[in-house]
Amino acid sequence: MIDSPKHQGMRKMLVKLIEEKGVTDKKVLQAISKVPRHLFMDSGFIEFAYQDKAFPIAAEQTISQPFTVAFQTELLQLEEGEKVLEIGTGSGYQTAVLIELKAKVYSIERQQELFRKTKLFLPKIGYHAKSLVFGDGYKGIPEHAPFDKIIVTAGAPTIPKTLLSQLKVGGRMVIPVGEEVQTMMVIIRKSDTEFEKQEHGSFRFVPLLKDRN
Ligand code: SAH
Repeated sequence: MIDSPKHQGMRKMLVKLIEEKGVTDKKVLQAISKVPRHLFMDSGFIEFAYQDKAFPIAAEQTISQPFTVAFQTELLQLEEGEKVLEIGTGSGYQTAVLIELKAKVYSIERQQELFRKTKLFLPKIGYHAKSLVFGDGYKGIPEHAPFDKIIVTAGAPTIPKTLLSQLKVGGRMVIPVGEEVQTMMVIIRKSDTEFEKQEHGSFRFVPLLKDRN
């Protein structure tokens, strides 16, 4: 598994494009410039790894578009050492970006095949999540709650209440909400009972499905 100067050069171009599209957080851009996205993709798609596009991975899922990963990460406003819950581990690309930003990452995946593959792969290239869980993201991880931040990387028909309950007061959740097209929402927990909601544009994700598969 090689990360050549050619790959690094292509990544620089990708970062420039993401910056032009509106992501300004330097730390996020630096994380994108470090994660070798081509290693997260099935070999047939390696030449497309540094285009700003989503691509198919196993189990009919996709690796998110780099801009979307950068945008969601920027909205999280991560601080070093924060506890982050990710729903939808998928290829592990977003997980790796969060780890580059020195977050303690807990991630859940409902597809057995992807879960197994990514759990083996991430440590192989030096990315160590706190915990990778096979399970239903709707349930969160109660034994590790509360989390400083929660990021959902699949389209949720509604905002799952269980996830809100696992967010620290002062914490924020970034979640695409909707059926066919999703609105990127940021939810900030103001107190035990109060949540502030912000909207940040339209996106298309694979659906957040119930239970494990
Ligand atoms: N973060 C991933 C994005 C993968 S696409 C990446 O960077 O590659 C979304 C992922 O969410 C898919 O892998 C899908 O299987 C998973 N998913 C869908 N519903 C889920 C649920 N209820 N719990 C956990 N994961 C889920």
